[in-house]
Amino acid sequence: MDGLFTISSFLRGINMRNDIIKATEEIVSCSDNGQHPLVYISLKQGSGQCQYCGQKFVRVSAEELSEKLAV
Ligand SMILES: [Zn+2]
Repeated sequence: MDGLFTISSFLRGINMRNDIIKATEEIVSCSDNGQHPLVYISLKQGSGQCQYCGQKFVRVSAEELSEKLAV
């Protein structure tokens, strides 16, 4: 059950602005589907937020990401 909850949270994060997107990259880009200029957000501190749309990103290891998807 906990694994299912994690996956649904991850999938919602792709579409919903207020959820956190998990990324393995050190730098992520955001344009809110063209709603604002493309910007790059550094996740070197472990997390970051888009200054235009407020989308939050958190950096995870590849192992952590695949663990949560492979249930
Ligand atoms: Zn954005």
